[in-house]
Amino acid sequence: MKASQFFISTLKEAPAEAEIISHQLMMRAGLIKRIGSGIYTYMPMGLRSVRKVEQIVREEMNKAGAIELLMPAVQPAELWQESGRWEQYGPELLRFKDRHARDFVVGPTHEEVITDLVRRDFKSYKQLPVNFYQVQAKFRDEIRPRFGVMRGREFIMKDAYSFDKDEAGMKVSYDKMFNAYMTIFNRLGLNFRAVAADNGSIGGTGSHEFHVIAETGEDDIVYNLNSDYAANIEAAEAVALVSERAEPQQTLEKQHTPNMGKCELVAEFLNIPLVKHLKSVVLAAEQVNENGEAVTQIVLVLLRADHQLNEVKLSKLPGLSTTRMATEDDIMQAFNTKPGFIGPVHPAQKVLVVADKTVANMSDFVCGANEVDYHFTGVNWGRDLPEPDLVADVRNVVAGDPAPDGNGTVDICRGIEVGHVFQLGTKYSEAMKATFLDENGKPQPFVMGCYGIGVTRILGAAIEQNFDAKGILWPAAIAPFEVVICPVGADKNEQVRYETNNLYNDLLKEGVDVILDDRGERPGSMFADWELIGVPHRVTIGDRGLKEDGMVEYRGRRDEAATKLLPEDVAAHVL
Ligand code: ATP
Ligand code: MG
Ligand code: MG
Ligand code: MG
Repeated sequence: MKASQFFISTLKEAPAEAEIISHQLMMRAGLIKRIGSGIYTYMPMGLRSVRKVEQIVREEMNKAGAIELLMPAVQPAELWQESGRWEQYGPELLRFKDRHARDFVVGPTHEEVITDLVRRDFKSYKQLPVNFYQVQAKFRDEIRPRFGVMRGREFIMKDAYSFDKDEAGMKVSYDKMFNAYMTIFNRLGLNFRAVAADNGSIGGTGSHEFHVIAETGEDDIVYNLNSDYAANIEAAEAVALVSERAEPQQTLEKQHTPNMGKCELVAEFLNIPLVKHLKSVVLAAEQVNENGEAVTQIVLVLLRADHQLNEVKLSKLPGLSTTRMATEDDIMQAFNTKPGFIGPVHPAQKVLVVADKTVANMSDFVCGANEVDYHFTGVNWGRDLPEPDLVADVRNVVAGDPAPDGNGTVDICRGIEVGHVFQLGTKYSEAMKATFLDENGKPQPFVMGCYGIGVTRILGAAIEQNFDAKGILWPAAIAPFEVVICPVGADKNEQVRYETNNLYNDLLKEGVDVILDDRGERPGSMFADWELIGVPHRVTIGDRGLKEDGMVEYRGRRDEAATKLLPEDVAAHVL
């Protein structure tokens, strides 16, 4: 590539809204341009890095047996109504109507579309397992888009979906993806960690996130230096809570009830402090009539004040009429017969009430979680309220806490979530009646997994780990170019022009991803551009060096000083 036939546009200053270094450097290096909030154009220079990330991801997906397809970005609402997420997803889901007033969404993820596809085309266990993936632009109407492409509204994701005939098969598919992710993030040259994730709100049984370790990460990772233990903070706090949890109150009878929604943990209605460890806890409850049938269901969501509402995915429960943030007054009103109920709500918690006013008059609820044998019957409003100061005693997982694996203590660091693997089980296949015929000719729901990688977020994450005062220090695998040739004084010197073209053609022949800066810029601004853009290897060809000893100047982007090389040795040196 010749710079004169490419597009390079660097900036001296980053725009004021760029808070973190990767955003600043991506803007300054001209990798992206902002079009609107959380919406960016990937400029030619940035796109080269995006494509390199995609290439590595594709190679490893293909090696792991996943098959590429491309699903539509625009999805009919019917599919989301079938899965139940039309109601549950909240304002992050961008919805619109077509000219016939039919509802559509711009896909934030593709479980519905792929489940629909597989239920049409896969009829027998003999066709399983199968894993489809795509690399595609997603849209999520993030409440706070920021950090450039790290939390954009439109962003590129690799998403894969596995379909198996049983749970054991799903676990095999999951492990394959987990291992592929390890290889991908290693090949990308990132300092990362796979951590156990709590996926209660997604509705599955096992999950890991892949985090790039960086100060500016939005997530807390709890890890043990002495062992393999690592979990995101929600999962770590859930474990802490479960192990501390007292036996269910004696007044409440334990009873197994069907899955009542997406409670992450058991939480006795009446013992709100129990939820203090979590960013959010969904309490679902239902009233049972004398035949043991559920007649009323309500959901309360307690949120830590720093938690974003749109991250809570509410389960679909019949009979709900309100979904909104509630103030204390709202709650007083909603539960006007038992206003005491809200007494213990801690100032650090927000409360979302999803219920009718009428439920306040009801009694004898069942409440519990997605955990067998952890439901309670005979739960009522306003009984056994804990003292308010009890609630103030919020204890989160902190560095120095005992590690759950019994092996010393934990530390906490910040991470950027760049990948996520889930065991979905039959959540979508059951809701959408996606079945195949098993060995006995009996219809069974597909057992699914889903696997995401934030392709464009990876660029930001890589820069957060690799920069200096002059600009980006790309890991070689995803740099826009591997080598830049900078001729000095080529306009006045035939030999410089000759050697430059020679070297350029040699490197191309060797398969080196090289750019020749033939813009005729002065050396200072030319070097500054390439240091900002972060190309790993620079070769400078000047009149003096050629005359003295026929050498060119080589400088690695991380090197303290330049060294001399014969032009014919450059390819071997950079490869
Ligand atoms: P986050 O917790 O950061 O909001 P998520 O858990 O909602 O991410 P997933 O549904 O797990 O995201 O999607 C798979 C991957 O897509 C994530 O691991 C992340 O790398 C990427 N991703 C998610 N949201 C965004 C976004 N707004 N901008 C860029 N990448 C994103
Ligand atoms: Mg999100
Ligand atoms: Mg997440
Ligand atoms: Mg995730």
